[in-house]
Amino acid sequence: SAKHSGKNSASFYSPDMQSEITQRVELERDLRAAVEFNEFELYYQPQVNHQNKVTGLEALIRWHHPIKGLVPPNDFIHSAENNGLIIPIGDWVLRKACEQLSVWANNQSTETLTISVNVSYRQFRQPGFIFSVSSIIERYSFNPARLKIELTETMLVDDMERTVACMNKLKQYGVQLSLDDFGTGYSSLQYLKLLPLNQLKIDRSFVSELETEVNDRSIVKTIILMSRTLGIEVIAEGVETEHQRSYLIKHGCSLFQGFHFGKPMPLSELSAWLENYSNEHNK
Ligand code: C2E
Ligand code: MG
Ligand code: MG
Ligand code: MG
Repeated sequence: SAKHSGKNSASFYSPDMQSEITQRVELERDLRAAVEFNEFELYYQPQVNHQNKVTGLEALIRWHHPIKGLVPPNDFIHSAENNGLIIPIGDWVLRKACEQLSVWANNQSTETLTISVNVSYRQFRQPGFIFSVSSIIERYSFNPARLKIELTETMLVDDMERTVACMNKLKQYGVQLSLDDFGTGYSSLQYLKLLPLNQLKIDRSFVSELETEVNDRSIVKTIILMSRTLGIEVIAEGVETEHQRSYLIKHGCSLFQGFHFGKPMPLSELSAWLENYSNEHNK
């Protein structure tokens, strides 16, 4: 019977669980080294408006693992959240982005560009977060409105009072706030009204099947309408086709991010890309 089945097994852990634990331990060990030896890099993905003007970039972290090569964030951010390494990693991302903004502030062709930075739950909830943002923006000279902090719905709903207080503090510093992956969390109008947001980002999952899914079309139209009603800027992520772009424009969304325009790229490729893009579109 089930009651006795455990008796003869040699170990509580199955081989699968064992290897999962080993992998987790190795990932954590490697991540620690990555923080120490600075193995991270920021890639930048363009954000483009309806007139084909690049308005900003999203900073997306990459990890150059000494053996595995380039590791995408979905393979390590979750772990970094669990073991606390997200705090130094997140600080590094913010610093790097602000440093870049201060470089761009000195050049006419880049001075208006914004950088969006992803912030995770544990980072946002950490007591020192507000202070670390304020000291970073103080250290580099640029207009803080060029910095957009991306938060997600799920990290905002518990302890709304504190969330709103933190967000208001950030807005006092002049930073902009964006709600990432919008539509995949709670999406309640009630809290949307309470949160001091500058931007909503329509999640990629609604954009990717605009062509075939009637429901996704309704959701996208509703989000656009809602953000306009609330006076919040709206951007669509994961735009991959001209069809998606024109549908979005038709329904009042005029900011886009996605492979249709450009993939995330290292800084070393960015200035050539920007120049080429503006030449292509301003003929
Ligand atoms: P996200 O913030 O929603 O970022 C968008 C993700 O969608 C990026 O993946 C980007 O490469 C991908 N993407 C953009 N356009 C398209 C498209 O047209 N088609 C498809 N199929 N994908 C597209 P990436 O860079 O792998 O990042 C994944 C997630 O990792 C991000 O989702 C974000 O939640 C997290 N992340 C990235 N960088 C950081 C960071 O510095 N800190 C934290 N806490 N999280 C980060
Ligand atoms: Mg994001
Ligand atoms: Mg997103
Ligand atoms: Mg996403």
